[in-house]
Amino acid sequence: MSRQNIQTRDLDTPDRQEEVQELFCRALHQRTAEHKAKLHDDGADSASAGAAGRAGDPVTPPIVFSSVFFLPGDPAGPYQYARWSNPTWTALEETLSILEDAESVIFPSGMAAVAAVLCSQLKPGDRVLLPGDAYYTSRVLADTYLAPYGVKVLTCPSADFDKQDFSGFRMIWIETPSNPGLEICDLRKAVAKAREAGATLIADNTMLTPLGQRPLDFGADAVVSSDSKAINGHSDVVFGHVASRQAGLITAVRDWRKIYGAIPGPFESWLVHRGLETLEVRFERMCNNAEALAPRLTEHPKVRQVKFPGLPDHPAHAVAKSQMLRFGNVLGIVVSDKNAAERFINSCKVLRPTTSFGGVHSSAERRARWGDKVPEGFVRLSVGCEPLEQLWKEIKSALDNL
Ligand code: PLP
Repeated sequence: MSRQNIQTRDLDTPDRQEEVQELFCRALHQRTAEHKAKLHDDGADSASAGAAGRAGDPVTPPIVFSSVFFLPGDPAGPYQYARWSNPTWTALEETLSILEDAESVIFPSGMAAVAAVLCSQLKPGDRVLLPGDAYYTSRVLADTYLAPYGVKVLTCPSADFDKQDFSGFRMIWIETPSNPGLEICDLRKAVAKAREAGATLIADNTMLTPLGQRPLDFGADAVVSSDSKAINGHSDVVFGHVASRQAGLITAVRDWRKIYGAIPGPFESWLVHRGLETLEVRFERMCNNAEALAPRLTEHPKVRQVKFPGLPDHPAHAVAKSQMLRFGNVLGIVVSDKNAAERFINSCKVLRPTTSFGGVHSSAERRARWGDKVPEGFVRLSVGCEPLEQLWKEIKSALDNL
């Protein structure tokens, strides 16, 4: 097989990349008026959004554990009871909102974010279309908890969304690239068809983060993300968020959290905030590593197939190039069979055998062990932040020894 060089610079989205970096810088430096007001005794003036802090202010957001806030007289002010709001949440939500360029609401897991969107938006009689090959727990949730209440749950393979008729659906759910098969769904086409059908389009953007892909810019009504992955990045928190530019939708999602009560802890919120501050540098390294490894893996005699949207032989490479800012850090490789895949994962010194992705440590998993519709020898490889040549040396050695 000839080497398929990946040129990130070939992506069709260079201007947007610069704008997104600008957003990231703003997200790093801006704090909310409310958050600053908590830090300043003397109130709103010095607390205006974007103002620099004063001598003695903490640079990182304080972790506020209080479950109650002083609330004399008629209820007023941003913080009243900690199931409704909390200053540590505000700091993170504001940072995410700048980065997403959309109001963001945080959740104690990616699944809590998924549930908030599905449950706040769908009602009995509605039809929802989910990808049949993407993150399976979202389908399990819809089948187990929505279908019995009269929501009709249908599925379609991610690669076939272009052909699928959207008419009659209340919600279209896409995940691109899909986890674990790394199929691509054309965001522009999906949004156009959803609009025509009068359906809400939700994109699970976990794999790419707002630095790698921006479905809201293509017209998606909301994005959901498992921030347990790259956004936090250190494999020490389970977390999620929803972002939307539609006031009604995001208010419904926030109300769902408040009433349902699945709320994030202040410490976890603080950890995710801390992780998010290094997202740009981590994601850049991880994506660069993945782009460099993909062609090398393609040439390795023990690897039968490499699935990566950045490779020119990916069936939807052209679409990927036109809608992704980076190709991501996750790739799929297929080796001969189940045993070879397990031996590769467990013998490679730079791979942690875990069931997640997006962390600073590279990790790998044989996804067929969960029943995903991928070959037995399919390994989902999450490329981390290790120095590239070290990473390649160990991966190559483990493959050589199969
Ligand atoms: N969406 C995708 C694409 C995922 O991969 C995951 C978890 O792996 C989730 C949602 C759920 O996230 P969490 O595990 O944080 O609940």
